[in-house]
Amino acid sequence: MIDRRTLLATAGVAAAGLAAPHLARAAAPFRQPPLPYAEDALAPAISARTVGLHYGKHHKAYFDKLNALVAGKPYAEMELEEVIRRAKADNAVPVFNNAGQAWNHNFYWQQFKDGPAVPPAVLVEAATRDFGGIDPLKAKIVEVADGVFGTGWAWLVADNGKLEVLGLQDAGNPIAEGKTPLLGIDVWEHAYYLDWENRRTAHVKALLDERVNWAFVGDRLAGASPG
Ligand code: MN
Repeated sequence: MIDRRTLLATAGVAAAGLAAPHLARAAAPFRQPPLPYAEDALAPAISARTVGLHYGKHHKAYFDKLNALVAGKPYAEMELEEVIRRAKADNAVPVFNNAGQAWNHNFYWQQFKDGPAVPPAVLVEAATRDFGGIDPLKAKIVEVADGVFGTGWAWLVADNGKLEVLGLQDAGNPIAEGKTPLLGIDVWEHAYYLDWENRRTAHVKALLDERVNWAFVGDRLAGASPG
């Protein structure tokens, strides 16, 4: 049974016309999407070496492990987002972790671009309403990213059109919380340690100021807003 929020979120993603069908569907074996830019496109916020390892080793490994875990099971017949929801409900921790991380990184690579971006009006308006502006919103994302203890993610999400920033541990994913992801900052050390060592804060600020594709975030928000 699909509840109204799920229906809205699904319809919203479709309406937003995101060139990202693999965010919403997949068939086992689940396949890692191609990197949407060159490995050096995100430097210096994320170096080519880190992108190569993070995409080519870490992200790939989540797909490899997921495919091994779901082989011959009902999960293999589901779309990736459904695997995340069902594995959480089933308390199937290894499946949830690998499906979540496969999806989280699919999303992660798509939300960046090879240069700074201007936040679109839809996002500025929502950030002003919910946080007092884009800069306070960025500061909140940095604060939450700093506050994730150990491994995890800082997520900007829409919940019935309202912006929230969540810190989720490990493979935590807003879909499993019934919320629409708009931006996900990976704060596992593999995401930044080669480039920034212990300076997680500086890494996150560099991403927000120089490499987040705010048009992507705005399109996600426009698609998620009720009415
Ligand atoms: Mn990662």
